[in-house]
Amino acid sequence: MYCLACQDEIIIQITWANLFQLSQPTAICEECAAGLKLLEGGRCKKCSRTTEEVICSDCLFWERQAEMNTIEFNYSVFVYNEKIQDIVAKWKYRGDYALGEVFRDYVSRAFRKRFSFLNKESLAVPIPLSTERAMERGFNQAYQLADFLPIASSNVLSRKHGEKQSKKSRMERIATENPFFIRKSINKAVVLVDDIYTTGTTLRHAAQLLKQHGCPNVYAFTLIRG
Ligand SMILES: [Zn+2]
Ligand SMILES: [Zn+2]
Repeated sequence: MYCLACQDEIIIQITWANLFQLSQPTAICEECAAGLKLLEGGRCKKCSRTTEEVICSDCLFWERQAEMNTIEFNYSVFVYNEKIQDIVAKWKYRGDYALGEVFRDYVSRAFRKRFSFLNKESLAVPIPLSTERAMERGFNQAYQLADFLPIASSNVLSRKHGEKQSKKSRMERIATENPFFIRKSINKAVVLVDDIYTTGTTLRHAAQLLKQHGCPNVYAFTLIRG
């Protein structure tokens, strides 16, 4: 068996503890697993930024933008570091769908821990890619993350055509019109799913649209806090 992230061979020591779990493949070697850093300790309760403050200054800013104050909170699983940057680059930009499996257990565990208060009718809504980008990459990594969650997902959002978000500055992004459109209303709580929370603008635009169409509460769940 080989590590999905670095292709090194994984030697499994058979112990009484894992003897009965051999059907569950180990997707990642110990060294790669050690390089992934779970977000722990003090974090902003609104956006998961590492801080000792209860709410960080960015979130205080968002709270004053009424029409963009659309998500209850964002919960992220991993700290952004070189190792995860490396794995995500292979996963996204080289279209390596199988590599996403590395994240399955971490993602489902973190979700169960933080979102246990949601009822089981709540829906996961992955952040879509534009059609061009989905073609480029072969798949949407946010859809794969949503599949790891114990709630149903609904792909109600689509992205309008337009230039890549990452080329714009923060203020330009905030001023930009909503890059999404919605295909049907959802009257249940929604958890938006994406690979990374950076400024939060994309997620807030998606949440704004959902709330304008009957969604009572929107949360965000992201793999990485950028
Ligand atoms: Zn490895
Ligand atoms: Zn914050």
